[in-house]
Amino acid sequence: PSWLGVMGGGQLGRMFAQAAQSMGYQVAVLEPARDCPAGQVAQRLVQAGYSDAAGLDALAAQCVAVTTEFENVPADSLSRLGQQVFVAPDAHGVSVAQDRIAEKRFFVGCAAKSGVLPAPHKVISSETDIASVGDELLPGILKTVRMGYDGKGQVRVRSREELHAAFHAMGQVTCLLEKMLPLAYEVSVLTVRGADGQSVVYPIAENVHRDGILFTTTVPGPNITAECAAKAQAAARAIVAELGYVGVLCIEFFVLADGSLVVNEMAPRPHNSGHYTIDACVTSQFAQQVRAMARLPLGEVRQHSPAVMLNILGDIWFEGDSEQPREPAWDRILGLPGACLHLYGKDDPRRGRKMGHLTFIAATLEEAQDQLHAACLILGIAP
Ligand code: ATP
Ligand code: MG
Ligand code: MG
Repeated sequence: PSWLGVMGGGQLGRMFAQAAQSMGYQVAVLEPARDCPAGQVAQRLVQAGYSDAAGLDALAAQCVAVTTEFENVPADSLSRLGQQVFVAPDAHGVSVAQDRIAEKRFFVGCAAKSGVLPAPHKVISSETDIASVGDELLPGILKTVRMGYDGKGQVRVRSREELHAAFHAMGQVTCLLEKMLPLAYEVSVLTVRGADGQSVVYPIAENVHRDGILFTTTVPGPNITAECAAKAQAAARAIVAELGYVGVLCIEFFVLADGSLVVNEMAPRPHNSGHYTIDACVTSQFAQQVRAMARLPLGEVRQHSPAVMLNILGDIWFEGDSEQPREPAWDRILGLPGACLHLYGKDDPRRGRKMGHLTFIAATLEEAQDQLHAACLILGIAP
């Protein structure tokens, strides 16, 4: 059997490995952490840093194709791999997506083709930049350029004084200031583009965040008009084509009160908001990543059941202020109709840590939502 390689051993790498194995591949994971979710299921672990030349070369020698499960993998590592083996996504796509400045510049550059713009923004790297921030950018959000996720590395600023303080608190490194927009909804479009340039687009997903972390994804999104969905999907196709991207790419959009769309950011990998595809679509996002990197035909994206996905965070292991974790009542959850439970094999629950996700599928969206509601009651989560 052929080997596929993945950079990173988190839950995305784990679910990728499971999909690859079900298609007959063996999976090599390059991950420095000894104990990782993907390492429990993949049959080989290259224990090396993401920039370790020997580890990269070993991965390339072992595999027919390599992908990544996290966006902060050094682009140079993907370049090195790309000289030896087929890599999807490639260093270019990942380098744009992992740098908010490059990403914004790219979105602005392809706005004529995509029909969407990012939020008004400005690069902040000095006091002079702060002094020249126009009033129209405030209130705003100051974001780190790299490594931010789950709302980490972001500070909301109401005034120039707060911007000043936040810039200093971030160590005066180059940041990006974005105008705070009045969001009506948040949506994401999961896109897959093959090496032959063909692309497929999943149904648009409606996302609710809580404390900066994705809370639920609902598909079809109850608040999304057909017009908005079509526009976001067309934008997504234009964006992946312009990037020359191969693989799964998820693009997040904001929907404003007047129905207009703003492109937020993109993730060069399977995405948390696409986990519902495992249970609700003909082909999961992880199976698509396998197909795209192995240069196989892309799968059908058709959604066969309405779905709601709930992220399972470590918080529910802790009752009140207790520091003693206790396992949630999965037996009761699994008794609910349409429950599809995915736990990532992490044995040390912590508050805010993604431990798994729970998708409900049903004949109607209302039924799936009702079951999610019941699950929240059981798990002690405010719905
Ligand atoms: P992810 O975990 O999705 O990678 P992230 O940490 O990279 O997230 P963003 O997606 O940029 O960060 O922002 C996190 C959330 O903050 C958004 O989903 C949205 O709710 C809110 N947000 C970000 N930018 C803006 C904005 N310009 N206006 C209003 N809300 C915003
Ligand atoms: Mg992000
Ligand atoms: Mg985001």
